[in-house]
Amino acid sequence: MIDRTTDEMWLSLNSEEQQAVSALQQEMGLETPAEVMHTLLRQAAQRALVVCPSCGHGARKLASDEASCVECMSVLHLTDGIWQVITLQ
Ligand SMILES: [Zn+2]
Repeated sequence: MIDRTTDEMWLSLNSEEQQAVSALQQEMGLETPAEVMHTLLRQAAQRALVVCPSCGHGARKLASDEASCVECMSVLHLTDGIWQVITLQ
């Protein structure tokens, strides 16, 4: 079942992108192109989301390897795929 929003999103993709979504849909074993979009978005959001190791709150990403916690003001640095606190204020 494709709702109107999904339909519009789908139509806004070019044919190459639609093919990519179809391929992913098959590979991921999902029912609809919308589910592919949702799954990709979730994964992208998880990559973008930084959790402060110091207080557990969400931190704001400043660069690909740098973030600052909005809660405890820790400055975080990405080392070997792990966010680590480099300064505490
Ligand atoms: Zn924090």
